[in-house]
Amino acid sequence: MPSLRLYSPAKLNLFLKVLNKRPDNYHNLETIFERINLVDEIRLIPNSTGKIKIICDHPQVPKGPKNLVYKVSQMLQKEFGITQGVTINIKKNIPVAAGLAGGSTNAATTLLGLNKIWEIGLSQKQLVEIGAKIGSDVAFFLYNCSWALGQGRGERITPLKIKQKLWHVVVVPRIKMYSKDVFGRLNLKLTKKRVDANILTLALKTQSALQVGNLLHNDLETSILSIRPELLRVKEKMLKNRCCGVAFSGSGSACYGLVPSRRIASAVAKDLRRSYARVFAVCTF
Ligand code: ATP
Repeated sequence: MPSLRLYSPAKLNLFLKVLNKRPDNYHNLETIFERINLVDEIRLIPNSTGKIKIICDHPQVPKGPKNLVYKVSQMLQKEFGITQGVTINIKKNIPVAAGLAGGSTNAATTLLGLNKIWEIGLSQKQLVEIGAKIGSDVAFFLYNCSWALGQGRGERITPLKIKQKLWHVVVVPRIKMYSKDVFGRLNLKLTKKRVDANILTLALKTQSALQVGNLLHNDLETSILSIRPELLRVKEKMLKNRCCGVAFSGSGSACYGLVPSRRIASAVAKDLRRSYARVFAVCTF
């Protein structure tokens, strides 16, 4: 079987509501995912030795069993008695530990790719079941959709029929945020109860970027800012700089602004690059 070259896109959470904490210590969420055109490149090269090898020149990406692509490959080998191995080459463009689901998307892309090159023949349902064991954000990337509602831990996916293509500027400050710490600080008594994913979903179907911008919401924001108060300045700077709505993605630290067009996204990104090193002009993918 020849090697396979795949794109692994990042996500933004345009809406994230935390419903409650579960007995297994995860939280039930309601979130709207958007797939964006900030992508890692993954090359899968099958081998007959049975070994899993990861090649990646990003210093923060684990090269062994802690890498989610390693985990998913090993899980497939064990569960389906696969004797082949694979070399996985990851060209990382998505910032790590930023709330953009870099590890999860790599795992989903690898799962889809290995299902082909190892000829396992898993159904969509089986792929989603395996993905959910690896991480809560994996399932979204197993559906070929730009928009989806995520429920449960985020792994119960309902693709949304939204034709809107939005432009964003994403700023990733050099601050690593870990979901565990952010959820650990969360005070559910202080989160807004009346926010609703349906209102944003409807706006995404029928309204302009400006109106969508007013409806962005992330229950984790208070927690993120209590850990790193300086991130408020990023938000303020973006709001002053032509963004018509600014929010954190997932548990941060990526902060994104909504802008009305590609031209404005490029111009705003250029301005923000004077203050921040990692700034991306991206759109729905
Ligand atoms: P999420 O939005 O799903 O919470 P994130 O974007 O905040 O995720 P990741 O980029 O997935 O975070 O990185 C979180 C940790 O996962 C990193 O510290 C890294 O060590 C580990 N990791 C495992 N596999 C990968 C991978 N393939 N790419 C990046 N990080 C990985």
